Amino acid sequence: MKIILVAGHGLSNKNAKVADVGTQAYKAAGEGTLYERDVVRKIARMTGDMTQLIPNLVCDQLGVETPLQLSKKVEVIWDQHRSTFGPVDLAIEIHLNGFANPSVYGSEVLYYDGDDKAEEYAGIFLNHILRRVSITKTRGVKGVKSGQNGAAFLGGLSRKGIPAVLTESVFMTNPATAQALRYGVLIPEIALGHASAISEIAG
Ligand SMILES: [Zn+2]
Repeated sequence: MKIILVAGHGLSNKNAKVADVGTQAYKAAGEGTLYERDVVRKIARMTGDMTQLIPNLVCDQLGVETPLQLSKKVEVIWDQHRSTFGPVDLAIEIHLNGFANPSVYGSEVLYYDGDDKAEEYAGIFLNHILRRVSITKTRGVKGVKSGQNGAAFLGGLSRKGIPAVLTESVFMTNPATAQALRYGVLIPEIALGHASAISEIAG
């Protein structure tokens, strides 16, 4: 099985809106700035490391270091690597959520509306994230339609025949979550949730 792991926003997208919202909790606590794109790159790398021992799995993490962002990045990676990497069975884009109300928290996983395989995989990712992450509750899987957030990535790959999921494991804008991201085991927990889901799908 071949999967592609993408860290949301890319290196050049320092001021991504969600990332900025996500930093407010840190600024308020005097903790300095923590950008979503930096945290999701850590999660992607850790997930890649954890999946190395899964039999018959090839994980392409090149998306983690590219300066490009979102759908553009995936299209470019896909076009660059399809000749050598071959067909991809699953693409995962990792994000963290943010919202104006700091009390909002929990996990959700997005897929492209109408892609049954992607919906099935989204359910598996949500289950494993909920099992591993200590500060969360379910916000469900969400079918994204054209024009909505994540549709470029999810729809673009779905049209290429690649099931894709976009994970929003926690809300960076929730103060308890922000603290746990900074000091706790939340990053490895999120990575383990992703790796466990990949293991089930690859198994
Ligand atoms: Zn994001």
